[in-house]
Amino acid sequence: LFVSFEGGDGAGKSTQARLLGEWLTGLGREVVLTREPGGTELGHLLRDAVLHGDHVDARTEALLYATDRAHHVASLVRPALARGAVVVTDRYLDSSVAYQGSGRDLGADEVERLSLWAVDGLLPALTVLLDLDPAAGMSRLTGDPDRLESAGDEFHRRTRQAFLDRAAADPGRWLVLDATRPVDELAALVRARVAALTGL
Ligand code: C5P
Repeated sequence: LFVSFEGGDGAGKSTQARLLGEWLTGLGREVVLTREPGGTELGHLLRDAVLHGDHVDARTEALLYATDRAHHVASLVRPALARGAVVVTDRYLDSSVAYQGSGRDLGADEVERLSLWAVDGLLPALTVLLDLDPAAGMSRLTGDPDRLESAGDEFHRRTRQAFLDRAAADPGRWLVLDATRPVDELAALVRARVAALTGL
């Protein structure tokens, strides 16, 4: 089973990914909890380059994310799925379609094609969108904003809409949740959907 969490910064993706992982571990499943960008050693370097590199242009950025994802899937996600583990990732290719495709204006279709090529077509069985007003997400973050967190209101508005549009186009894969709801309620909704999907 392959599950991804998507949404803006500060929406609670890593918290919900962790809670789902803990629940599944408690049920005796092997769980691999991971993230993009940066889920592997090479991914760490790429994450650093894309988030802190000087003047990374939009196409270079898209290719760095695609490289991170290709390596992540080939070296970690596919082997884990092949041995029957559940893989839960904090961000996957829908982030690229939303951020690089719509946010950076490279075109959602083109970035989707690039992303699907990078992973040889691997899509999650379930993608949970934690939908949140970008301003609310920003105010939840602590520490220094990185390059993208400070990208501007219009960028974040386009990105949020892109996630919502993708979810609406493929409701079988997506679960859209209002990220302002309490953490425990959100976790229960995620568990219910995973249970329905897997018979757990
Ligand atoms: O979610 P995380 O903090 O790991 O993401 C790091 C930054 O990279 C965030 O600001 C996020 O918005 C951005 N990002 C992006 N395109 C992606 C994935 C993440 O712009 N494909």
